[in-house]
Amino acid sequence: AAALDRAESLILSIPDYPEPGILFRDITPLLADAAGLRACIDALIEPFAGTFDVVAGVEARGFLLAGAIAVAADVGLVPIRKAGKLPRPAAAVSYTLEYATATIEAHDIVDGTRVLLVDDVLATGGTIAAAHELVDALGGVVVGTAVLMELDALGGRAVLGGMPVTALFHA
Ligand code: 5GP
Repeated sequence: AAALDRAESLILSIPDYPEPGILFRDITPLLADAAGLRACIDALIEPFAGTFDVVAGVEARGFLLAGAIAVAADVGLVPIRKAGKLPRPAAAVSYTLEYATATIEAHDIVDGTRVLLVDDVLATGGTIAAAHELVDALGGVVVGTAVLMELDALGGRAVLGGMPVTALFHA
């Protein structure tokens, strides 16, 4: 649709950030645009409408999308945080991402809760694979993943083992 095409044009490609050789996709101009943000939130929800009880966003940019999705889809929100930020005991999973290593944590999820994972960019898939492992460990059921942009050459989708993945844009 025209609204999504325009939204895609608002994502900037920044060479050599945060390290030489990385072409970083900067979604902040898209977030700042009311019509673009609305079109993206609606399109991220649409394939999964009615199939999830909570949306789980990965810190930090995933939070921005998850908050909007939660309200628009009338579901709750589970923050998946970087290590050491949560105030109560949390489950943890460590993983390798495109240009660093990381540990993510989350608090309890009610057994059987259907969870939609959300992030801004799917690159190698390490982050979403770790988030999936984390939700599994907590007793939730991952119904799929929704991202703004998938970096196809990095093969993230293949490491997610057939999980339904919606990506609005591809690079
Ligand atoms: P992966 O774990 O799939 O390799 O990397 C995805 C994670 O790294 C996501 O949390 C995403 O926010 C971040 N990331 C990797 N590359 C980019 C990028 O080019 N742009 C943005 N905005 N985030 C990226």
